[in-house]
Amino acid sequence: MSNIMDYFRKSRNALEKGGITLKSNKEEKIRCPECKSYETKRAIAKHKVTCPHCGHHFRIGARTRIKAICDKDSFQELFSDIETIDPLKFPGYQDKMDRSRQICGEAEGVICGTAMIRRQPCAMFVMEPGFMMGSMGSVVGEKITRLFEYAAEKALPVVGFTASGGARMQEGILSLMQMAKTSGAVDYHSKRGGLYITVLTDPTTGGVTASFAMLGDIILSEPNATIGFAGRRVIEQTTKKKLPDDFQKAEFLLEHGFIDAIVSRIELRNTLERLLEQHGRRERQL
Ligand SMILES: [Zn+2]
Repeated sequence: MSNIMDYFRKSRNALEKGGITLKSNKEEKIRCPECKSYETKRAIAKHKVTCPHCGHHFRIGARTRIKAICDKDSFQELFSDIETIDPLKFPGYQDKMDRSRQICGEAEGVICGTAMIRRQPCAMFVMEPGFMMGSMGSVVGEKITRLFEYAAEKALPVVGFTASGGARMQEGILSLMQMAKTSGAVDYHSKRGGLYITVLTDPTTGGVTASFAMLGDIILSEPNATIGFAGRRVIEQTTKKKLPDDFQKAEFLLEHGFIDAIVSRIELRNTLERLLEQHGRRERQL
């Protein structure tokens, strides 16, 4: 912590909290924001970090997600040595990054690697909501680009979990160009016959939605996830129109054909297994 006051600073939004921690004190009760019931961390963990009563999906960190989806010990991390610099010397950027590292224990906003899902190999990226709201700076863009290139070379499908507040404004145009770069990498992988499955998680917004998140061959989403480009207030103020209540929710997007299916976290491993198997290619190797 760079400043003692940071200990008392409230998270400005749900994304900044980065999800619930289940590691300590398993008998501690947590209140579900949806149905308001209290459940122990143990019971919530047993339900893949969803509410046992109403199915609300709590926000989770990238490592928890990897553990929930991949075969035990199969995840091999790649490109973890790429470091963020502060190219524009943006005021406060370095402090923010330090704070994010302390909060979520990750060096950047995405974790990439190879993994097995029920013995089916794949390349995988998982965005970390606890790191600067999962925003996409140069390192996030570079790691995702390299993952698609790696997957193309090794003939692996890519499974990607998105969670992001959008482009990282502290890196200015260097952040925005990651949208074109990652989209190019998705295309490179696709032209070599690679399958790409995206799983949109709450929230997937801004530059990430406008690039690799919506480019999946198959686009899945967790229930009730917020998915959009500009924020609700911005759209309402620009268009001077009231938006429907469920606007930018996964269910609304499914109804309007933007995503292929909404899959509960409890079912996700089964669904991914089935999709990888149906679209499998023989020559894959890790
Ligand atoms: Zn609930």
